[in-house]
Amino acid sequence: MSARSVVRALPAQRAVEGDGFVVRRPFPVPGVDLVDPFLLLDHMGPVDHGPGEAVGTPVHPHRGFETVTYLLDGELRHRDSLGNEGVLGPGDTQWMTAGRGVLHEEGPTPRFLAEGGRLHGVQLWVNLPAAQKMIPPAYQDLTADAVAVDQPTDGVTVRVVAGEAFGLVGPGSTHTPMTYSHLTLAPGAAVSGPSDPDHTVLVYPLVGPVAVGGRILSEAELGVLGPGDSVELSGAGDDGGGPSEVLVLSGRPLREPVARYGPFVMNTRQELIEAIEDVQSGRFGD
Ligand code: MN
Repeated sequence: MSARSVVRALPAQRAVEGDGFVVRRPFPVPGVDLVDPFLLLDHMGPVDHGPGEAVGTPVHPHRGFETVTYLLDGELRHRDSLGNEGVLGPGDTQWMTAGRGVLHEEGPTPRFLAEGGRLHGVQLWVNLPAAQKMIPPAYQDLTADAVAVDQPTDGVTVRVVAGEAFGLVGPGSTHTPMTYSHLTLAPGAAVSGPSDPDHTVLVYPLVGPVAVGGRILSEAELGVLGPGDSVELSGAGDDGGGPSEVLVLSGRPLREPVARYGPFVMNTRQELIEAIEDVQSGRFGD
């Protein structure tokens, strides 16, 4: 096997969403529109909110892709125009297929808003292939206890939310081949696993630094990996310090034209215009 190494590093940039929701965003940024099939990665926190401080994003539409929200700490609530409502806690994932369209709001639960606390999570946007952009909206609520977990060696915890990675199979179902994993790596602890050579592979340290093929990625510095058929990672934190937390994403590129405007990701400019008209005429609901 040949191990993949980092061919591009993208330090996250600060961005503000919704009602003042601050995120760290490695992409899209100027010069990097997407990393096919992944469209966006937003890292929320970790931030300690006092009572009344937590913010969210007001009602907005999505069409043509999926939003995958994974929490490490805190509580988020989601409500949409179809009457769906859900609450995410630590270790939970909401895999939302926007498909032809939803209007939704995302924010703290009333309890989390009132009491405050630590919020830490990540939202990934996954593109849908052209043939599936207009499928009905759908949700997968993947709770912490459903995620595949293993401790293959001392100092390493692997959690797989979707796909097959590091010897585990996650509960999430995906429209194209991909894997979504969260690893905890003590300083010096190493793990490796096979990697589909046809996939794009991303490594994003959520907390602390992580070593990949001889290169150290800092916290919030996304590594885009080059060719290979395995992935090798190790915790690069200080001896005696806390573990690093890292997201490992892998997906087969769609290799289709992408036309994107805000919360809409389609294949042509005409389809974006139709999406905006459909929102304005109430076809996303209210
Ligand atoms: Mn949204």
